[in-house]
Amino acid sequence: MPANKPPVSRLDQVVADAIRNRQSRESGYREQALKLYPWICGRCSREFSRENLRELTVHHKDHNHDNNPTNGSNWELLCLYCHDNEHARELDAEAAIKAGIDGAHGKETKNRATAQPFANLKDLLKRNDR
Ligand SMILES: [Zn+2]
Ligand SMILES: [Zn+2]
Repeated sequence: MPANKPPVSRLDQVVADAIRNRQSRESGYREQALKLYPWICGRCSREFSRENLRELTVHHKDHNHDNNPTNGSNWELLCLYCHDNEHARELDAEAAIKAGIDGAHGKETKNRATAQPFANLKDLLKRNDR
């Protein structure tokens, strides 16, 4: 018989489980990646030893931390600095794309882009009328 458990404690349990699962999963893929690859940053080629190994991080090439194929195809070992750079670049690109679509300049580009086909269409219709 399910007792009237307060929903909060059940939620706590779920969150605790999720955190535990996540932690074990993360330490799992990091260990695997460190076994699979030489301890060298994939960008700046800095070499790592046991002493500074915590500065070497596992980057997910597709940025999906849940995508952890055991052959390591989605992992790349990067030092903290290069890992930061890698993500900063991606954020810049995302911001640029977003600005291009939502920003004032993006609207101009969009109008210019759509104006062209309509002009052509008008010409085509005119031609068809004759
Ligand atoms: Zn590096
Ligand atoms: Zn990353």
